[in-house]
Amino acid sequence: MTRTLTHYRSGAPLEGTSGRFADVYNPSTGEVQAKLPMATAQEVAAVIDDAQRAQPAWAATSPAKRARILGKFLELVERDMAEIARLLSSEHGKTLPDAEGDIRRGLDVIEFAMGAPHLLKGEFSDSVGAGIDTYSMRQPLGVVAGITPFNFPAMIPLWKCGPAIAAGNAFVLKPSERDPSVPLKLAELWTEAGLPDGIFNVVNGDKEAVDAIIDDPRIKAVGFVGSTPIAQAIYERCAHNGKRAQYFGGAKNHMIVMPDANLDQVADALIGAAYGSAGERCMAISVAVPVGEETADALVEKLTERTRGLKVSHSFDDDADYGPLVGQDALDRVTTYIGIGVEEGADLVVDGRGLSVDGHEGGYFIGPSLFDRVTRDMRIYREEIFGPVLCVVRAADYQEALALPTDHEYGNGVSIFTQDGDAARDFASRVDVGMVGINVPIPVPIGFYTFGGWKASGFGDLNQHGPDAFRFYTKTKTVTSRWSMANKTVTSSAQNARS
Ligand code: NAD
Repeated sequence: MTRTLTHYRSGAPLEGTSGRFADVYNPSTGEVQAKLPMATAQEVAAVIDDAQRAQPAWAATSPAKRARILGKFLELVERDMAEIARLLSSEHGKTLPDAEGDIRRGLDVIEFAMGAPHLLKGEFSDSVGAGIDTYSMRQPLGVVAGITPFNFPAMIPLWKCGPAIAAGNAFVLKPSERDPSVPLKLAELWTEAGLPDGIFNVVNGDKEAVDAIIDDPRIKAVGFVGSTPIAQAIYERCAHNGKRAQYFGGAKNHMIVMPDANLDQVADALIGAAYGSAGERCMAISVAVPVGEETADALVEKLTERTRGLKVSHSFDDDADYGPLVGQDALDRVTTYIGIGVEEGADLVVDGRGLSVDGHEGGYFIGPSLFDRVTRDMRIYREEIFGPVLCVVRAADYQEALALPTDHEYGNGVSIFTQDGDAARDFASRVDVGMVGINVPIPVPIGFYTFGGWKASGFGDLNQHGPDAFRFYTKTKTVTSRWSMANKTVTSSAQNARS
């Protein structure tokens, strides 16, 4: 039966009034399972009205009390973990363990944001002049927004709303229209945790809703995550509107494999990092760079064997290594890129096209693909494919390997596998990429550090989560105060007179 979904406003689900709906699919079957209302600009404005009314009282609530509500929310998400993971898998297509990982990486940041009483502390300088002290305080911005992608429907909304809410803002989330049920469930849990009405809101929609958010002067900051072209367009419009903005876009993450690396460890790491979650991760490794022909030949042999052994199935299959892609358009795009790679002359060692899963013939499945002898001029190397396709680019030496991620348009994550500390240290220092792994394939920083790519993978102000998130969702006020020295003299004289 097809469900009709809602928005979430003032602590309760809100029916859409636009009459426009998007289909929400089950990627394992290709069937429509829900209808999602697309908000009009007027509906977005009404949500912002409520948020703006609710925010001052929330900002006036002490940071410790706010943090306690985050703690309660954590407990409730843990309580409902299995249900939320199932909901997530059913709309995204990732396996249940992956779905739970998606939620848990989001909760890491809620846990971090519970440190708001500490993180919001200002600075103080005593006696910067005669009788003069200077201090700073961090104040919330007001109403802020997050616009998030389909591939982490729990984690990225939680990365955005946790710090924003803990800092005393009201938050408007515009999640992906492909998998909106988890954000709506999280909204209910915020209310159950005791968050005042109007502080966490969800508006579902497309460009119309996004434009209404970024053009509304009451929205003081926008955190966006998604593809680079959309990120760039929204960033420019936010900048034009004088709005604080942070943008995280696409990726092409490399793994450098030095000749001294343990190749079994590398091959295992690459299989998980390239094909896990069907490659629909912004930190997935999509380019392996073995250094030297001998390393390359041995690595491709190990990868071929492991790639052929992967099981692709529906998202509730406990034995599946990964599930379907999110939609027909994603399946068409990945299939097209594999064809482009063949035309460009890369060596397609494992071809994942044309996969069908018994009993799920309508699902958006594609097997893992492995290309060898990819070169830097090819489109399959330059462009983000965002699917289970791994490209091997052979490098003659370390300098050539270092240049590949450094020169690439994207700069989200990168990793190096080696036993040589000098090489690892040099690499971490010189590579022009925002997040680096050393013998770690997917170097997503833990919640109390910040997350952010460089170049076309991230632009705007500050990184996501960690201390940067509190800087992004607050403004700093600096106070310079003078209290008359005369009083002090009087007091001292009075004390002297008494003694
Ligand atoms: P997307 O750009 O299609 O959508 C992201 C958000 O923008 C969604 O909420 C969507 O509704 C909205 N949107 C889409 N088109 C729009 C338009 N024309 N105008 C206004 N809003 C619009 O991205 P996606 O397909 O949902 O997500 C995959 C992409 O996200 C990949 O490129 C991936 O690398 C990237 N991503 C990056 C990071 C990171 O931290 N760098 C993390 C996750 C995903």
